[in-house]
Amino acid sequence: MVKARSFQSRIANRMFHPVFENVKNSRQIHFPQPPGQRSPGAFIFHPVIGRSCFNLRLILFLLLLLLVTALPGLAQESDKLALQQDNFRIFYSPQNEKTAAAVARMVEFHRARLEAFYGLNVAERASIIIAASPAEFREYGDSRLPEWSSAAYILPENLILVKSPAWAGSLPQLERDFLHELSHLYFHQKFAALYLPLWYNEGLAEYLGGRRLEMADEIKLSAAVFSGKTIPLERIDSLLYFPQPKAELAYLQSLSAVLLLKETLDREGVAWGDFHELVLQAGWAAALQQSTGMDEFAFEEAWLRALEKNYRWLFFLNIDTLLWLILGVVFILAIYLIRRRNKKRLRRWEEQERRGEQFY
Ligand SMILES: [Zn+2]
Repeated sequence: MVKARSFQSRIANRMFHPVFENVKNSRQIHFPQPPGQRSPGAFIFHPVIGRSCFNLRLILFLLLLLLVTALPGLAQESDKLALQQDNFRIFYSPQNEKTAAAVARMVEFHRARLEAFYGLNVAERASIIIAASPAEFREYGDSRLPEWSSAAYILPENLILVKSPAWAGSLPQLERDFLHELSHLYFHQKFAALYLPLWYNEGLAEYLGGRRLEMADEIKLSAAVFSGKTIPLERIDSLLYFPQPKAELAYLQSLSAVLLLKETLDREGVAWGDFHELVLQAGWAAALQQSTGMDEFAFEEAWLRALEKNYRWLFFLNIDTLLWLILGVVFILAIYLIRRRNKKRLRRWEEQERRGEQFY
């Protein structure tokens, strides 16, 4: 999940910031934000006007300037067409009409399944933007969006931002990304007021997006486990700041931890829905303890042990290990060949010596 300010609020920050910051007697009001409700740094500048004609004229001039500079942004917004599917409004550029129709079908097809999973009956109104270009993706996203992000769920606008397959990925990739972000949307709707670790949110999004651990993923996980490079689960909260390889590992770890939790809940006879209701009532830590008999540390330990146990043999398929093995074999082969050649040479010399004795 990537929480970011919207295009509009960024316009607001970019435009309003310089306007009122320089006006004398202006007051800056900062509204404290409940977690997950507003993006940090959303300021509202409230100017005290009317002290002098100069200030009023200056403000009028600056407002005009603001209107003119905001026009390109407004024009870009109005370029988008919109399609309504249930409570989702899909914004797209004319060239992405087919993609928009496909996204509408995705909403229709997956919404009920995810609502049932999260036990939600009424979903909030939400928007989906299909970014027509990398520039547009950055424009609607945020400067804090990591380079590696392929889609984003943006708060507080309840907005899912995806890339058009015309310039990134494919339609199946878009469907996976969309489902991942849709899970974040419902997760936020369900648990907005609570702290839940990001690995659970991301792991669930990966799981509901249809991702499963494939052989290549398991090799990566086993390499991390046996080289002691796993990321502590609670540190995945800082996912947004990870470079790409570390972020990839974090997503894999999140998914594998969610799979282990699912397995544990199944074993304990606790339905996933009941676990979520308990999280709502008692909080994450208490619900985990009550449902699995493990606190967060014990769960993390159990998860690491499970990885070690399940993927021990896979360690030998890791590319680094393979390279070392191949290097070892080549080295031994080289020594064998050199020794064989030396022996042959020695025999030839001895042969020549023997023949020499016969002639001289
Ligand atoms: Zn995510």
